[in-house]
Amino acid sequence: MIMLPAGGAGGIGLRERVLGAYIGFAVGDALGAPVEFLTEQEIRMLHGTLCDMVGGGWLRLRPGQVTDDTQMCLALGDAIEQAGGWNLSVAAEHFLGWYRSKPVDIGNTCRRGIARYLRDGSLESPFSEGDAGNGAVMRNLPLAVLTLGDDEAFARFTLEQCHFTHNHPLSDAAALALGHMTRTLLGGHSMSRARAIADGLVSEQRLFNFEPYPKMCTGYVVDTVQTVFHVFFNSDSFEDCLLQVVNRGGDADTNGALAGMLAGARDGVGAIPRRWLMKLERPVRDAIERQVDVLLELAGKSE
Ligand code: MN
Ligand code: MN
Repeated sequence: MIMLPAGGAGGIGLRERVLGAYIGFAVGDALGAPVEFLTEQEIRMLHGTLCDMVGGGWLRLRPGQVTDDTQMCLALGDAIEQAGGWNLSVAAEHFLGWYRSKPVDIGNTCRRGIARYLRDGSLESPFSEGDAGNGAVMRNLPLAVLTLGDDEAFARFTLEQCHFTHNHPLSDAAALALGHMTRTLLGGHSMSRARAIADGLVSEQRLFNFEPYPKMCTGYVVDTVQTVFHVFFNSDSFEDCLLQVVNRGGDADTNGALAGMLAGARDGVGAIPRRWLMKLERPVRDAIERQVDVLLELAGKSE
């Protein structure tokens, strides 16, 4: 059970931390998406150090536009709101609705999982060796908030949510560890507590070892976790953490989103640079702010 001090450490309240995690996630997505799939060298040639939301990239985005990462989180959060809690069938319908809305991008495993649901109505993907991408892990934040104070429910709902498209033990382990770490930070706990969760994952599954950092930042969930942990534990602010992660390229939007989630949970929404906050698509920011209040209410954690 995670205890939630009323004001959190350093006087940052729970709502500020949840907003920090969720908006931090979207900011990382919008910052990283224009350099998704580029190498570090390509980014340097094009942008020097990327430090603003420039738009463009392979998706030809507007500056501040988010992609599938944030949109799938919002779809999951909407499903939770509509159902008044966790309901996998309702979540499946919301993911399908998003899929039909012709999103700007969608990962292969997510596409395959939603197409399977459309075909046969099944809510769980069969185990597949190829399902170790980061697509289920990236969209789990709303469940981490909904279940604050109930670790058992968090684990159970998370596995159901993930298995809708991704059924792989590495994806499961990553979703549980990143979620557990986010929840610990939302509770105002120290970096050493967060570090112990990372170390616990590595001792269970050596594959996730991130020291020395292997410098792989693809959409493979092991690369994602190593990259996100490396930047999170080797940076000194929200901004530094995000700049480090997106300038590595690869799956820059997803890695940026997850790093932004952790740093935002730790530092609160006040730590997000204003130039990023102001550029983030306004409807997305509004939807996140509304959803955070709904999730906290359902979690019984409204202040
Ligand atoms: Mn994306
Ligand atoms: Mn991505």
